[in-house]
Amino acid sequence: MAGTRHKTKCLVVGAGPVGALSALYAARRGWDVEVYELRGDLRNKSTTPLNFTKSINLALSERGIEAIRQSDSPKLLDLVLNSCIPMHGRMIHGQDGHGNLTEESQSYDNHGRYIRAVDRGALNKMLLDELETLPNVKLLFHHKLTGADFNRRKAWFEQKGVSRSSSPENHSFEGNPLKRAREIEVDFDLILGCDGAYSAARFHLMKFVHMDYEQSYIDTLWCEFRIDPSTSNSVKTPSARDGFATSPNHLHIWPSSDKMFIAIPSEDKSFTCTLFAPGATFKALENDPSQVELFFNVNFPGAADLLGSAGIQKQFESNPHLPLISIKCAPHHYGSTGVILGDAAHAMVPFYGQGMNAGLEDVRVVFSHLDANAATPEGRAAALEAYSKERVPDAHTINDLAFANYWEMHAGVRSPLYLLRKKIEEF
Ligand code: FAD
Repeated sequence: MAGTRHKTKCLVVGAGPVGALSALYAARRGWDVEVYELRGDLRNKSTTPLNFTKSINLALSERGIEAIRQSDSPKLLDLVLNSCIPMHGRMIHGQDGHGNLTEESQSYDNHGRYIRAVDRGALNKMLLDELETLPNVKLLFHHKLTGADFNRRKAWFEQKGVSRSSSPENHSFEGNPLKRAREIEVDFDLILGCDGAYSAARFHLMKFVHMDYEQSYIDTLWCEFRIDPSTSNSVKTPSARDGFATSPNHLHIWPSSDKMFIAIPSEDKSFTCTLFAPGATFKALENDPSQVELFFNVNFPGAADLLGSAGIQKQFESNPHLPLISIKCAPHHYGSTGVILGDAAHAMVPFYGQGMNAGLEDVRVVFSHLDANAATPEGRAAALEAYSKERVPDAHTINDLAFANYWEMHAGVRSPLYLLRKKIEEF
């Protein structure tokens, strides 16, 4: 219509933490925002629990907090920060020469700055709740991106749980994965691909841009465990307090050559823990799960007592054993119509605790470029070009640092050189 200013129509693919924050930034700019998520709404109890594929607890750092801060959502920021538990340093668990259990606190920062433990699902829910208050955002669950033409600006989504007679305009259906899926076609000005490490948005973008792509798996699998809140007769470490079985204000590490066990505090006074070990170690334990407790006692002294010997084998057997993928690609965009963010652009091993933080930061950075110039397709193309130019080297660097920190966490924290450096810093 002559005289009517065209509103930017933006499709966000994936409603994980990065997709939800991207949608919030786009909505704050008055764009028409549609968020398409493959899974059901994680706020519904029937949706597959997050720890089926993702760690429940994460370390949220200033990088991620700043991105939330700049979303112009002060209430949301308060909610997020209030739900976090400060972690002032690492607690290294071990054994002295006499077989006594030891705990050694290594603070993260001489000036008292700290990282925070956050429940990934809770953070995601808070972001979705905030989005739902905005009139220019549509949340569409059970919608899987199946194709995108970044020149014609058309995308296709498979709607799960919609019978063939349903109207494509009616997005508010109750998802029923048993019903036959149907594909819908959607127009867009810009796709923000935030659909994780196995991104379909990236896959389709690659057909339009000459994208360099590198993917690797490391020979380490991970499995989640839980330490329950402490009770009067449960095992505690000397640093335990406030109903937690060990210090609530540390990221706990049991280092052990090529293996590592970590624990992060949760609001309910439990700890979400992760075992990282080579594939062969997992295979041996899968073949004979009765060895799990012994394995813990040999490699991570004291951890089995905190986990409770009765449940440790069950947790190993019932929780999934998952791989760790690392992805680098360049560029992260195509023309004025497509850009990938978060794990879709740079999945990394989790040892630097920065995967999600870096993804949230992507959102802040891409919108800082779009804010300078997003009104026209030419302006958007220039903004996305500048974004890729800035972000690709940063993403590659943090990816490499994450690899490097694996050594630091499972061995370096005990090396004499590290301990000497720490002493000098403290002095
Ligand atoms: P995801 O969380 O993967 O979300 C992608 C979304 O897209 C999902 O909801 C998915 O269902 C949806 N989707 C997928 N395909 C489609 C499709 N075709 N169509 C529509 N939707 C689709 N990071 C930290 O910052 N700190 C930590 O301490 C930390 N610890 C970690 C520990 C472990 C063991 C692991 C494995 C990771 C850790 N990470 C950590 C990394 C962090 O989990 C990820 O970086 C973060 O979840 C990425 O968020 P995302 O929104 O980009 O992708």
